[in-house]
Amino acid sequence: MKILVTGGAGYIGSVVAEELLKAGEDVVVVDSLTLGHRAAVPREAAFEQGDLRDRVFLDRVFAAHKPDAVMHFAANSLVGESVADPLRYFRNNVGGGLTLFEAMVAHGTLKLILSSTANLFATPRRIPIAEDEPIVPGSPYGETKHILERVLAWLDATCGLRYAALRYFNAAGATETRGEDHRPETHLIPIVLQVALGKRDHVQIYGDDYPTRDGTCVRDYIHVVDLAQAHILALRALERGSCVYNLGNGRGFTVREVIEAARRVAGHPIPAVVGPRRPGDPPELVAASDKIARELGWTPRYPDLETIIQTAWEWHRRHPDGYRD
Ligand code: NAD
Ligand code: UDP
Repeated sequence: MKILVTGGAGYIGSVVAEELLKAGEDVVVVDSLTLGHRAAVPREAAFEQGDLRDRVFLDRVFAAHKPDAVMHFAANSLVGESVADPLRYFRNNVGGGLTLFEAMVAHGTLKLILSSTANLFATPRRIPIAEDEPIVPGSPYGETKHILERVLAWLDATCGLRYAALRYFNAAGATETRGEDHRPETHLIPIVLQVALGKRDHVQIYGDDYPTRDGTCVRDYIHVVDLAQAHILALRALERGSCVYNLGNGRGFTVREVIEAARRVAGHPIPAVVGPRRPGDPPELVAASDKIARELGWTPRYPDLETIIQTAWEWHRRHPDGYRD
């Protein structure tokens, strides 16, 4: 198959492009490079630089490459930033998604995998969080993904567009060649590893007064290669119809536990300072991934937090300046 990967110069999209190529698929990456890196795009993939909100650009890409399916990663994805500037999030994530879906329907590409998020569940009643948990977006960012999921449900019903919405919890880890290089970096694991590398003095813990076992937030970290495998399985299962899955390892770790695990992996002290809470952070997000395990046979290759951090640590050590562009 030929898969169009939007946001394939970013962290998760570039790893998924790498894994798709390994699985023998053809890949076309579309990315504006506003947040991603040209060097992250696999050499074997075709690359088209442009903005998803540009329908003329998309028409040219679809006409030239005739993709069989789309994996849609391109988005702004920072909770705090979306609280500060919600309209940028609605314009980019909803605007970009709608323009993409329009082009797909117009060109007869009717299969899509959507990157959705755990930020749909700000106030979960039950943990681990299953797919039937009521959706309460925790931020404008989460709301943009909720809107896209709802639009896709209607496109399934009206246009025959088949989709899988994968609600990832916290992506982490690296392959030998691709890792996490957001600028500015806001994610916990890369920040902690930058401290271990001597590139930062300390990590700030965003609040230690949450109702959790040590007062810091609990998250479910999932290896980026396990995410990629879930995308490939979901794509192959689309023939059976559209679906929605929560995706994590089913175990939660506090911020302090992540820092402790990184200390063990890196063998460095990693100073930590407690600061105020970050707006929009729910206390605890842990996924129930039984549905995707049962229906698609997904099983994580990296279920262990230290192994996930180890893969990230190896990449950061080899690429202390990330992709350098
Ligand atoms: P990223 O910022 O590394 O990658 C996003 C890519 O999309 C960048 O390369 C950027 O240049 C591109 N992009 C953004 N807007 C665009 C536009 N309008 N047109 C073309 N390209 C555009 O992000 P990531 O961490 O790889 O996340 C990928 C997806 O996964 C996002 O949709 C995010 O919401 C979702 N997600 C991520 C996580 C996580 O832990 N990182 C968790 C849940 C969901
Ligand atoms: N976090 C932190 N300090 C940092 C970055 C993150 O304490 O410098 C916390 C954050 O509040 C959250 C967890 O670490 O509870 C994971 O945050 P991240 O930004 O990595 O992912 P998110 O959960 O926002 O998707």
